[in-house]
Amino acid sequence: MKSHVKIPLIFIALLFNLSFCKDITPEIQLESPPSAKAKYIFLFIGDGMGQAHIDIAEAYQKSQKGSSLSFTGFPYQCKTTTYNEQGYITDSAAAATALATGQKTYNGLISQNINGKNLKTIVEILADKGMKTGIISSVSMDHSTPGAFYAHSVSRYNYYQIAMQAATSPVDYFGGGPFLDSYVPSDQLNPKEAMVDAGWIVSEDPFRIHFQGDIRSKLYTYQPNRNNEKDSLPYCIDATTEDVSMADFTEIGIKRLKNPKGFFMMIEGGKIDWASHANDIATMVHEVIGFSKAVEKAIDFYNEYPDETLIIVTADHETGDLEYDPHAGTIEAIAGQKLSFQMIDTFLVNWLLSFYPISAEQIEALFGIYFGLRDISPEEFGLLNQGLDSQLSLGYSYYKQTSQGEFSSAVTSIIAARSGVFWNSHSHTSTPVSTYAIGNHAESFRGQNDNTDIFNHILSALE
Ligand SMILES: [Zn+2]
Repeated sequence: MKSHVKIPLIFIALLFNLSFCKDITPEIQLESPPSAKAKYIFLFIGDGMGQAHIDIAEAYQKSQKGSSLSFTGFPYQCKTTTYNEQGYITDSAAAATALATGQKTYNGLISQNINGKNLKTIVEILADKGMKTGIISSVSMDHSTPGAFYAHSVSRYNYYQIAMQAATSPVDYFGGGPFLDSYVPSDQLNPKEAMVDAGWIVSEDPFRIHFQGDIRSKLYTYQPNRNNEKDSLPYCIDATTEDVSMADFTEIGIKRLKNPKGFFMMIEGGKIDWASHANDIATMVHEVIGFSKAVEKAIDFYNEYPDETLIIVTADHETGDLEYDPHAGTIEAIAGQKLSFQMIDTFLVNWLLSFYPISAEQIEALFGIYFGLRDISPEEFGLLNQGLDSQLSLGYSYYKQTSQGEFSSAVTSIIAARSGVFWNSHSHTSTPVSTYAIGNHAESFRGQNDNTDIFNHILSALE
């Protein structure tokens, strides 16, 4: 007798949890900005987000909701080069250092130049001017991109040393991922304790905390891990209504930081890069859409204060050498995938193990439910079964965020092929990224520029 494949409640919930990707493109008021200086600056960084990533996410959102991403209609756009000090392909540390300090450095360095000298960051400069500052990231707060805006280190992998600089940094608000606690030496304070000792409010309850305590207090609020997220927010494709989004953290930041002297906020979509390293197109697209929803919060603010606000949306580098040919597939194929590669490799595989062996009919039904894969060709079926067999024989294992199991790899490669999407690499590339801008001094972002120019343009906007 055939056993029925049971669908755990979590997956049923995920099947219907599309709330994260609700599509309401905000109306942008295109008023010509005056020459007065900017007061409120938003710098959004999509980690690994090249032009193709944006185009594909936009095509997908249009196919599902009929609307564009929030920032693609900004009036000023330019190509931005991202090479590092040696002229090579950058990593997130060198790119974030360029954006945060206006200077090129070697890969791996966190706001230090090639001689090991600390470089003053935009956060440190603007805090000296009396502005409030905030740093938001969907990955851990000691990761390269957030780290380069508040810390200095000879290595991006000095997670503890980077995290411990948060307490004494001039930052007023951190929101997003937790610190990597596994790097805390057993006989030392952890970074959160150091922050509390320094007078910070530290809370893992982002939805309520910003209404509590003195609004003048410095705040670090984060979402603790629930599903092996590797100390980050869950992938947008896996998120439930219990999860706090980048948009939520951005909204809290606006409420905390608004003051007569202005603010600077850096908001990073860090897992666009992770999904791109894994060549998981559906997960990547949902990350860009989640990032776009965070930008919507800034657009709402811009619409209230158009003369004083500058919004910049850029990327630190491209990941995956991604290409898109709308004639080579149908973008709607992305809608079928309901779980990130990470959830496929961990929870789904673990769950399947309890039913193994499973009949071919049940497996085919499963592919339809979780991945929208119907009318599976013999070649596709062979690839999926081979990946599943290989993964099930390995048993439950936890894959690092930048690697991928054979089953999820088979699933995501078939969905990419059906969507007209081509990943040519699992790594970063030197392809220039796109920068979009709106608001006061946005006209600086035209033609071609370099990532170091963004730092200079921000300073110019404040003069
Ligand atoms: Zn990367």
